[in-house]
Amino acid sequence: MIYRARVVVTMDGSPIENGAVAISENRIFDVGSFREIKARNSGEIVDLGEQALLPGLINTHCHLDYTCLRGKIAPQKSFTDWIRAINAAKARLSEEDYVASINEGFAEAKRFGTTAIVNLTAYPELIAKIDEPIRTWWFAELIDIRSPDRANKIVDLAIESLKSKKNWGLAPHALFTASPNLFHRCEEIARRENILLTTHLAESREEMSMFRDGSGPLYEFIKGTGRPMDDCGHETPLERFVGRLGDASLPNWIVAHLNELSESDFDLLARSTRKFHVVHSPRSHGYFAHSPFPFERLRALGFNICLGTDSLASNENLSLFAEMRAFQRNEPNVSPRKIFEMVTVNAARALSQQNALGRIGPGFHVDLTSIPCSGSTNLFEEIVAFDQPVQSG
Ligand SMILES: [Zn+2]
Repeated sequence: MIYRARVVVTMDGSPIENGAVAISENRIFDVGSFREIKARNSGEIVDLGEQALLPGLINTHCHLDYTCLRGKIAPQKSFTDWIRAINAAKARLSEEDYVASINEGFAEAKRFGTTAIVNLTAYPELIAKIDEPIRTWWFAELIDIRSPDRANKIVDLAIESLKSKKNWGLAPHALFTASPNLFHRCEEIARRENILLTTHLAESREEMSMFRDGSGPLYEFIKGTGRPMDDCGHETPLERFVGRLGDASLPNWIVAHLNELSESDFDLLARSTRKFHVVHSPRSHGYFAHSPFPFERLRALGFNICLGTDSLASNENLSLFAEMRAFQRNEPNVSPRKIFEMVTVNAARALSQQNALGRIGPGFHVDLTSIPCSGSTNLFEEIVAFDQPVQSG
């Protein structure tokens, strides 16, 4: 089959005016001008008309569990208060609510042109009940704050559920809720099974004061759970995390947030040869009023930076187009093309899918989306500005 569009945005070189893509089964096998593609290939032609054909968007951080909490939690005075509020809201949800919430989230992400998603779920036992409509990396979000002696068991149980899915990974939730043993166990499995790992790191000022200063609202709240606090009052969250990543054989991490970094953290990142992937969620970031995200400094240090929506407990919808626009408002000097790369090629790299996702080229998956195209001179500006549901294919 051949798809023709006014412009095909391959993400390799310039977009192709009056372009076309030839596909067979689930793979793209030819891309070029409509004239070339028609000459080289036979098969049904689908003309998308005045549309830009794009690689499908990739959301590298979200929690579809909480789609049903959209608009339910007002911004709180502190990050710790937000944790209290979401815990209270979660206590009122049933298993059915979560399944409905995840399904609703998938449908919404798809409507906004997302074709691949990193979904962290706190309920891996529910994923067998979900038939996801888009390519999904299922991550079990793991917390052992109240039972660190069960770390291995918690990981192993989650894996039983995850293994029913093709793409899966492990997400020790954060340094303040997952024990060192839980992190170690996840890394051990990642090495053995060649899976991805993700975690939340250096998200809030309160996480910084907990680990660096041994004080503050998060410190007090977490202490109240009975967690041993002897790792607090010494290092920044990043120092604690990177300190344990000295082993070059450790698997690649997708690290969400990195909002709160000290000058010594930047020195450490500059010295470190390991460059994990970073996910930034601009709208959730605004909701929490975190310190400005140090995009330029991280980029200059060679980090691969992607965008994610995070959950609807701190965001209004699952549109990556809206996420790109929020990023653009904060970073007006970054080109629209570079911004679009954060939800396509950069995201594919984070998922070790740089040869299969995030571009339109021979051998790549047919993960495509298209949006109306007016033919303005700045196509990427038009892509970032797009604010409607899309047609996905
Ligand atoms: Zn998150």
